[in-house]
This record gives sequence, structure tokens and C-alpha cells, in this order.
Amino acid sequence: MTSLAVRPDAGAVPGGSPRPPDPLAVLLTTLDELETLARFDSEAAAERAGAAAGTARELGRPDLEQRARLVAADLLRRRGSVAEGGRIAQEVHRWATEARSRHLLARSSFVLTAVFQELGDLAGALEHAVQGVDLLDDDALPALRIDHLVRLADVLGLSRDPAAPERYATVLRLAEDLGDVDRQLRILNNRAYTDTLAGRFADALRFSSRLQELAAAHGVPLDVGRLDTVARALMGLDRLDEAEEALLPGLAPEVLDSSHDGDAGADYLLTLAEVQRRRGAVDAAQRTLDECVRRCRQHGLTSIRVRARAEQAELHAAAGDHRAAFEEHKRYCAELMEQQSAQRESRARALQAMYETTEARRQSRRWRELSLRDPLTGLHNRRHVDDELPRMLADGALVWVALLDLDHFKRVNDTCSHAVGDEVLRTVAGIVQDLPAPGTASLVARLGGEEFLVVLAGADAAATARYLEDVRSAVAAHAWGPLTGDLPVTVSIGAASTSEVPDRTPAQLLGRADARLYRAKREGRDRVVVGD
Ligand code: GH3
Ligand code: MG
Ligand code: MG
Repeated sequence: MTSLAVRPDAGAVPGGSPRPPDPLAVLLTTLDELETLARFDSEAAAERAGAAAGTARELGRPDLEQRARLVAADLLRRRGSVAEGGRIAQEVHRWATEARSRHLLARSSFVLTAVFQELGDLAGALEHAVQGVDLLDDDALPALRIDHLVRLADVLGLSRDPAAPERYATVLRLAEDLGDVDRQLRILNNRAYTDTLAGRFADALRFSSRLQELAAAHGVPLDVGRLDTVARALMGLDRLDEAEEALLPGLAPEVLDSSHDGDAGADYLLTLAEVQRRRGAVDAAQRTLDECVRRCRQHGLTSIRVRARAEQAELHAAAGDHRAAFEEHKRYCAELMEQQSAQRESRARALQAMYETTEARRQSRRWRELSLRDPLTGLHNRRHVDDELPRMLADGALVWVALLDLDHFKRVNDTCSHAVGDEVLRTVAGIVQDLPAPGTASLVARLGGEEFLVVLAGADAAATARYLEDVRSAVAAHAWGPLTGDLPVTVSIGAASTSEVPDRTPAQLLGRADARLYRAKREGRDRVVVGD
């Protein structure tokens, strides 16, 4: 049965009607629970995450919807769909970046740490692990903080970083303070396992013994993965009898088959076969290895299957059959290479899928940005003005608009060429853009043809008139000779401000500026008209 976060109604409030549960509070509780589940039935959790996303949508809380999606992405990853889980986590991460949602950034970094780790990119994993810890709020749930710290320690441990043991020690204390046995067991196991990777077998044994004691004290059976850790520590110290004894509880069918992922059992059997062979029990080792290989076939576990070949070669050698050992070793080498290149390919595909959406969005942002620009001058275009001018007029500040039109521009095209005309337009655009504008905000755009617009917000009349006069004289004074020969290039400018129009609409403002531009033309061009 799905466990619901909805607490049973406490019943009638004395003297009042029963209070219905607040759906937002329920949703927040559910998300906290889903994010901190230590052991869970992934199907039920996936169902709850899906329902939570739906509720968040109904409540109009996209941030909470993204949190629920991230839980679902993490479950996908745990169930083997690393690429798909990673793709969703990456999307959530991007959403969180844009929305500046700290919690969601910390959480998505946490999930992405595992994704990168499983794709074999430890550098990428470390970057996310550090972010996952840094960005977690001080008032985050303690269990969540522990999870984020453990993941950072794990990445350091897998990278054989000497800082890992200290990291584990710190987070182990936190879990002890919290009295969280599940998390303590996980930390002890991971600490011991990474110690075996680094060849620190004595440390590995110390922590795996604590793992065994704590589990026994709380009546928690060790799963095959943890038994495997204990045995590896003992094996590293050549304590083979004890290693085999430590592994024995795993042979009970309910333990061997209880693991959610099929490969934990096969991995365990491979360790057991190695211990048995090294103890000289060749027949027992062969039987164990056969069972391991059977499981590899059943669950399609290629990488353990390849490692089983190396063990098989050792077994043949131990039995004195050196020819078979050599043949098996050759098969091992060939399959190892095949597997490595397949892994490289699937990693590349998964990373590609994760980044494709990022790239697609970057591109579409770029297209959008380009669609708001004039390709000839690089200035903003009329579409951008249509978007932006109403916004600049919205907050009540004084806004000036100025229309700029090149004088007798047709002559430039006719006398020189259209190409020279284009160059003149580009140069004028550059001159206007390079002059510092007064006020708090400004916008320069090409409206079309040889007509430009300047919008100034928060600039007074005197500063505006001075600036526009500077624009006019800068264009007139430019050394146009090399481009147009004897032909001068000048502009006429008409400007108007919001203080003159009752409704502050773009149309009113531009209409008034246009009338003044027309006056500037009539009065002889190469001039600025800012008032009546
Ligand atoms: P006025 O002083 O009255 O504004 O005279 P004008 O010749 O500038 O005015 P008119 O509007 O009659 O001519 C504008 C010319 O601008 C016509 C057109 O060929 C030219 N034009 C418009 N867009 C472009 C362009 O992108 N490149 C070039 N080279 N010419 C353009
Ligand atoms: Mg003109
Ligand atoms: Mg014109």
C-alpha cells in the first residue's frame, strides 16, 4: 500500500467543524519525506513523486513541481535509467539556475553528482557534489545535509582523495547525533569500501567491524553489498577464513535475492569465489563462480561477467590447467576492451542527451536574441522597441524619445552605391552607440531604412537636448570623405517627452517626435528639434 503523507484527520475541533488538511502543507511534508527517504520501495516512491508533481501544478507552484520531478529523476537513475534521470535532473538544474532557487540547485546538484559518478566522470561529479553541499540552506533537514555530505565524501573516496576519511568522520558524527542508524550504516559501509579501494585495509576492517556491530545491535541484517565490503577488507589483510565466514550469511536465499539491483548478488558471489579459490577450495570456488556467471546472463551484467572471466582464468591455473587458463585470459582481455569501448560510447551518448537540451535552449535563446536585432547595424530593431518601450514607460519616470533620420540619404545611394549607403548606416549607428547617454536607462534602435530611435529614461530636458546636439554634431563632424567623397552626411532629429503627452503611450510619444523631425527637415535639416 502506498503510504500517504496526509495525516488522518484529528477529528472535530471543539466547537467548530473539522479542519481540512492544508494541501500546500501536505505537499511540503511529502516532498521533505521523499527527499530524505533512506530505504525505499522505489515504485511507491515514484508514484508519490508523480502525484506530488500534479498537486504542485494545481497549486501553481512550479518550484515544488520541479522538486517532485527531481525525486522522480533520481528514482529513474537508481533503477538503471541513468541517462534519462540525468537529462531530467539537468533540466531541473537549469530551471533552478534561472529561478535562483537555492534549495533546488542544491538538490539537483546532489542528483547530478550520482549521475556523473555513474557515467564515470568523477570530475563532473565532484563539482556537483561541492555545489550540493555549498548551496544547501543552513536550516535544511539534518538528514538531507547528511546525504549531501556523504555524497561529497563518496566522490572524494572514489577519487582516492586523501580528504575522504575526514569527511566521512564528520558526517558519521552528524548521523550519530541524529541517532539515524540507516545513515550510520551507509556511511560506515562507504567509508570501509573506499578504504579498500585506496588499499587502506586496516582502516577498512576497523570500519567494517563497526558496521557489523552496529547492524547486529539494531537487528539489521547486512545486505550482500555490505557483506562484500567486510570480506574485501579481510581479504586485503589475507585473513581468508574470516573473509569467507563473513560472507556466509549472504548465501541465505532471502539475503542473496533481496537486493533491488541484480548485480549486487553477482558481485558478492564473485568475491566469494575469489576467497574460496585463495583458500584452496577450488571446487567450491568453481560452483560459486558458475552461479555468478548464471546470474550475469540472467540479468545481462556485462561488466561482472568480464571480471568473472579473470577469476575463471585464475581458477583454471589453480587447478593446474594452464592452457585453459591462457585461453580464458585471452577471452577476458578481448571482452574487457570491447566493454570499455561500449562503455565509452554509452557514456558519450548519455552525456550528449543531457547536454542536447541545454544546447537546444541556448540556441533558441540565441535565435530569439538575434530576431530582436537589426542584422546590418547590430542595433535593436523595431520588434525589440515594441517589447521594450511600453516597459520603459510603465514605471512613471520621465522618458524622452528621439527620432533620427539621415538627410538626403538617397543621394548617398545614388551617387556612391548601395553598399556605401550600408556602410554609412553602420557608421552612424556606431557613432550614436558610442556617445554616453544621460539618464538612468537608454535604448538605441534602428527602426528601418535610414531612421533610428533613441529612448532615454530619467534624463532631464537640458541633458537630453545637449546629448542630441552632440549626436548631431558628431555625425556631421565625422570624416566621411573616404566613404562618400564630397557628399556630407548629416542627421535631423525630432524629440518628445512623456511630460508633454497625457497618456504616455508609445504611439503618442513617437507621433510627437515624428512631427518635430518633420519640422527639422523643413527648417533646413542637420538640426535637433526638442520643443514647439
Ligand atoms: P530626407 O532628408 O528627406 O530624409 O531625404 P532622404 O533621401 O534621406 O529620404 P527618403 O526617405 O526619400 O530616402 C531614404 C532612402 O534610404 C531610400 C532608400 O533607398 C534608402 N535606404 C533605406 N534602407 C536602406 C538600406 O538598408 N541600405 C541602404 N543603402 N539604403 C537604404
Ligand atoms: Mg532621410
Ligand atoms: Mg526617411
